[in-house]
Amino acid sequence: MGKQEDFVLRALEERDVRFVRLWFTDVLGFLKSVAVAPAELEGAFSEGIGFDGSAIEGFARVYEADMLAKPDPSTFQILPWRGEGPSTARMFCDIVMPDGSPSYADPRYVLKRTLSKAAEKGFTFYTHPEIEFYLFKDTPQPGADPIPVDRSGYFDHTAQSMGADFRREAITMLESMGISVEFSHHEGGPGQQEIDLRYADALSTADNIMTFRTVIREVALSQGIWATFMPKPFTTHPGSGMHTHVSLFEGDSNAFFEAGAEYQLSRTGRQFIAGVLRHAPEITTVTNQWVNSYKRLIGGGEAPSYVCWGHNNRSAMIRVPMYKPNKGQSTRIELRTLDAACNPYLAYAVVLAAGMKGIEEDYELPREAEDDVWSLSERERKSLGIDPLPRSLHDAIGIAENSELLAETLGEHVFDFFLRNKRAEWDEYRGQVSVFERDRMLPVI
Ligand code: GLU
Ligand code: MG
Ligand code: MG
Repeated sequence: MGKQEDFVLRALEERDVRFVRLWFTDVLGFLKSVAVAPAELEGAFSEGIGFDGSAIEGFARVYEADMLAKPDPSTFQILPWRGEGPSTARMFCDIVMPDGSPSYADPRYVLKRTLSKAAEKGFTFYTHPEIEFYLFKDTPQPGADPIPVDRSGYFDHTAQSMGADFRREAITMLESMGISVEFSHHEGGPGQQEIDLRYADALSTADNIMTFRTVIREVALSQGIWATFMPKPFTTHPGSGMHTHVSLFEGDSNAFFEAGAEYQLSRTGRQFIAGVLRHAPEITTVTNQWVNSYKRLIGGGEAPSYVCWGHNNRSAMIRVPMYKPNKGQSTRIELRTLDAACNPYLAYAVVLAAGMKGIEEDYELPREAEDDVWSLSERERKSLGIDPLPRSLHDAIGIAENSELLAETLGEHVFDFFLRNKRAEWDEYRGQVSVFERDRMLPVI
């Protein structure tokens, strides 16, 4: 038993923990949980806790269903929303097969594998997400329009605002679980909030995002409201993105930083951007995985719809934020495609793989987009070499199917399952007759 495991076993006694929730994530990004008694933990650390993988979305075929969840002791935390009295703790798990090998279906493993490939080249991948979500007055009712908790807008400060109270409670809870929050504010839509997590290595960030979603939902329920990370709940209000600032470090130094270079951006940084741009259409089905995701990427609302980069250009897919002199270590790029309903493990894996490809193959960075790319004509964009992002889940799947990068990064099992699942989602959607169609057609035809 290692040091960290010992620490957890001691903490269980000291904190009077009665239940330990073992958390892991399915291929679509939903959190799964099994509660075990503290007495089971020693066994869980050495062998894992068995479960039926075929019952988990994307995990296994029925004939190879046995899997084990092995808790990662470095992720041990007490759950603050369980109230007074004996406590409940949680740990994230790695999923292993009965022979001890990692499960190829575990999204956490997909990310770990991609991180180790980058580590072989000397790089650590850091991410910092800006997570947006809406707060509604009630639990969703089928067919009913959701009602936002307020009518405020971007950065609004209103007295006794529901949003501000909500953010305060949520942030206190996140901080108590060791998740540092950097900024928070009201976002552009009514009831829409944003909370930005402090940058951390990508595996910790992905775990933190899963915890974040749970905390936000718990706090909302405790206040009698509803939180959603749906990418575009309203036609006329902005969607919820998860813009992510990324950087690579070599040891203690930021590999994207070069003093005196344009935007302080090193050759490595430029190659990374070039990689993410070139492979963006192939990986969009992972960074934006739902039918609804593409209603956010429609243009406007500060969500991107074209493959380009810029400096202070919020219509660009990748933005190189303004740099502060003497703050070279904070050099980073902001990727604006991701939405708040992606699987963070898979999304970070494919973004890193695309960026690393740019570095390994020395891709040339295209010219930056200086204009508002939404206001250009189709022909102007063409002449500038600015391609559109996939316009629907259907288009995204079509491009993804032929992507070697995606197949290699996700591994055959996740790649096949994911695309099969997404095709089924599209097929179900395309048969749906919408309010839009009825409103347009019934009065005239
Ligand atoms: N809500 C916008 C999006 O969907 C982002 C707004 C912002 O720039 O923070 O990406
Ligand atoms: Mg925002
Ligand atoms: Mg942003």
